Amino acid sequence: MTVNAKMGRLVPGPSQGSLFAAGGEADTKVPRLPAARPVVVVTAGRIEYAARCPQCRDWHRHVSLGEKRAPCGAVYELQPRRGRVA
Ligand SMILES: [Zn+2]
Repeated sequence: MTVNAKMGRLVPGPSQGSLFAAGGEADTKVPRLPAARPVVVVTAGRIEYAARCPQCRDWHRHVSLGEKRAPCGAVYELQPRRGRVA
């Protein structure tokens, strides 16, 4: 019997992309930060963004979007939610 229940599951993460340019052709350094989609948390008179860390998979809170450095040491980019692309 062959059961095809085993599906190849792609694990999203900065695992395959090498940050180090082996050939040295990269003239401009473009740091590829893992993107984190924050969840907007509205507290009393304050807006916070809770994002799930792509590294430690814990939730980190931030008060603004953009490039953030989590207390665990991970650096990612808080991206606002994209609108629906037709
Ligand atoms: Zn973290």
